[in-house]
Amino acid sequence: MNSAYFLRNVRWTNSAFLIGTLLTAFIGLPIFVYQYGGQINWWLHGSMFVGMFIASGLSITLGYHRLFSHLSFKASWPVRFLTLIFGATAMENSALEWCSDHRRHHKHVDHDEDPYSIQRGFFFAHMGWIMMRPIGGESPLTNVNDLKRDPLVRFQHKWWVAIGILVGFGLPSLIGYLVEGGIGAAAGLMIGGVTRLVAVHHMTFFINSLCHTVGRQPYSDQCSAKDSWIMALFTFGEGYHNFHHEFQHDFRNGVKPWQFDPTKWTIHILEKIGLASKLRRVPDETIAMAEIYQKQRHLAVRLEKQEQNICEKTQKLFTDAQEQLNKAHEVWEKATKEHMKAVRQKLESKREQLTELQQKAEEAVEELREAMNIWHTAHQGLILKLG
Ligand SMILES: [Zn+2]
Ligand SMILES: [Zn+2]
Repeated sequence: MNSAYFLRNVRWTNSAFLIGTLLTAFIGLPIFVYQYGGQINWWLHGSMFVGMFIASGLSITLGYHRLFSHLSFKASWPVRFLTLIFGATAMENSALEWCSDHRRHHKHVDHDEDPYSIQRGFFFAHMGWIMMRPIGGESPLTNVNDLKRDPLVRFQHKWWVAIGILVGFGLPSLIGYLVEGGIGAAAGLMIGGVTRLVAVHHMTFFINSLCHTVGRQPYSDQCSAKDSWIMALFTFGEGYHNFHHEFQHDFRNGVKPWQFDPTKWTIHILEKIGLASKLRRVPDETIAMAEIYQKQRHLAVRLEKQEQNICEKTQKLFTDAQEQLNKAHEVWEKATKEHMKAVRQKLESKREQLTELQQKAEEAVEELREAMNIWHTAHQGLILKLG
């Protein structure tokens, strides 16, 4: 990249804002605390920092990401309204622009059209892409026509900067002022405003950089996305990025019951109180099959490298288990599809017909689970032989 091209394509406002807020948090805040730390109410400002961080961060993960980008559940207007207002305080563009970029990220992950492709380097995926104009110019918002129908989304698209400044910086400053006067206003701006913003920024940016660099790939290695429980701790559960790229329309990212996913838990609570509905879940069997396919890919790589032959009996056990699994999977897919189709057209299907299809689907699930167990045992046997 030559320097003339670089200078022509820098987004100066974005760059100044990102660097300015970062320096304020890392240099300005320690100086401010050194000067005035003894005079400010730390309970108040600590609570505002945490409260604003959660409101702002969760509005990005639950609102911008899982609701608007992936339509992984339906939400009533108060949820949409609040996530749009507090999403704006993350100063990460309007929901419409954010979702458009994110949908392109999923569609073209790791390729040139991926707006924050990790293939262009860690810094580019983290924040460099925001500081530069994209090659080929700004992209039109043609992949978010569905969202344009929502008047709340259209309103936020027009006013997000004003909302972000007023609520994101103005609110903590105002509360600080009302409690402690001028010094409280300055502390509110520095802590609940700018430092909170920097924390939310880099939390989101790490999903595009670290979650495409560090972690495991239990579901697929077709793209660079990784699962990392450590990242999940800092990102409201978005660290399970390998699962997310494989099953992007599922409202869960940490799909296992023990995985830390506060965004998923919040969506659950919203459903319980009637503010969210139609939560999309990938069937357990499909998820388990993805894990099996991934293990098969790993096994194939290991077997290729293996020099000595593995005993025929173990190999045959595994091949038989594999065949049985493939058959059971096929039967299960067919039975589930037929049952779902009949449920959708329930007016035309007779009650007995529906019950019969349901029974068939249930039997197919049982057989598939049994075949999976056999496969896992045979796989384990083979892995032990490989040493
Ligand atoms: Zn990603
Ligand atoms: Zn996504």
